[in-house]
Amino acid sequence: MQTKDLLELTKEFGNPLYVYDAEKIESQYKRLTKAFSKVEKLRINYAMKALSNVSVLKLLNNLGSGLDTVSIQEVHLGLHAGFTPDKIIFTPNGVSFEEIEEVAKLGVQINIDNLSVLEHFGTKHPKTPVCIRINPHVMAGGNSNISVGHIDSKFGISVHQLPHLLRIVENTKMTINGIHMHTGSDILDIEVFLYAAEILFNTAKHFKNLEFLDFGSGFKVPYKKDDIETDIEELGKKLSKRFVEFEKEYGSKLTLAFEPGKYLVSEAGYFLAKVNVVKQTTSTVFAGIDSGFNHLIRPMFYGSQHVIENISNPKGKERFYTVVGYICETDTFANNRRIAEIHEGDVLCFRNAGAYCFSMSSNYNSRFKPAEVLWKNGKGHLIRERQTMDDILKNQIMVEV
Ligand SMILES: *Cc1c(COP(=O)(O)O)cnc(C)c1O
Repeated sequence: MQTKDLLELTKEFGNPLYVYDAEKIESQYKRLTKAFSKVEKLRINYAMKALSNVSVLKLLNNLGSGLDTVSIQEVHLGLHAGFTPDKIIFTPNGVSFEEIEEVAKLGVQINIDNLSVLEHFGTKHPKTPVCIRINPHVMAGGNSNISVGHIDSKFGISVHQLPHLLRIVENTKMTINGIHMHTGSDILDIEVFLYAAEILFNTAKHFKNLEFLDFGSGFKVPYKKDDIETDIEELGKKLSKRFVEFEKEYGSKLTLAFEPGKYLVSEAGYFLAKVNVVKQTTSTVFAGIDSGFNHLIRPMFYGSQHVIENISNPKGKERFYTVVGYICETDTFANNRRIAEIHEGDVLCFRNAGAYCFSMSSNYNSRFKPAEVLWKNGKGHLIRERQTMDDILKNQIMVEV
């Protein structure tokens, strides 16, 4: 979609605003499935924690996607959006046993990442097939918060615990129908991915009733022009070939599953905010926008660098700006960034605002969460209203004090 469309949408729906381009989500989905077209049974489970608006979920459901969920609330949202339970996988970490049981009762595939939970679940529900999340201990991922496969990580069952795992399965007579791994986000090196895949294959050989192998996610998407990204076509070629070989070794057909979040929605998203103030100090020029890390926390939380464009003055002479928010503490979106000359009232556009942006927003400073718009067939559809004072007061109780 074009920047003039985005500018129009801010006039229609106000600021700050999230916009998602449906066509981009579709093209990413198709690019991924095409890269693995040599695999007979492929399943993409969209990791909905990246962006969980029900209209976006519905769009992905219509494309044939499944869903990767991490909480029972996400499972309920997925069901609400039209996913059938058999299209959903539940991959929690550190949730209560009751929550796992409740989700299993809904008919959703459970993925267990802890031996004591596995033993408990297998003893109580030996007839419910479960998937196990292994930790291959492969160091991957863009930064320490999103790299989850290393030795100290809280995620997964260590591959070194395989003997114990097998004993639990034998003792409880439970069925393991899938093996899963997810080593982190922003994995660049295909060889690292393939290396981890070998560990997964080696683990899989020990189980007789597998239906699927889930390779998680972590594809790196470009954040700026000419940025490095995972070569999906190359990965598709190499992993598909190896997967088909493994099926022969294993002796039956398996489903190859992925659960991308960022890959499907990151580039489809735009965050639009208006410049309230331009402030010159002794060291820099600040552009202060009508938003903050309450709406987009990734720069402050992960050090993410989102491209920022001045869509009100795209042809303007470029100058250096530090873009900041209105939160009453350090709230920096970008330091010393070249942006077309900014005037108060201009609209700035943040790229890659589809994944982990709205879904991580909060009401800090008692601000409203932004509205969300889905751009489809050349038209903007409001898919979430901007909050109001009622939302801020909802659930609050003022007692006699
Ligand atoms: C967060 C998460 C994903 C998605 O990761 P992306 O980097 O957004 O693709 C996939 N699987 C699991 C288990 C996750 O926790």
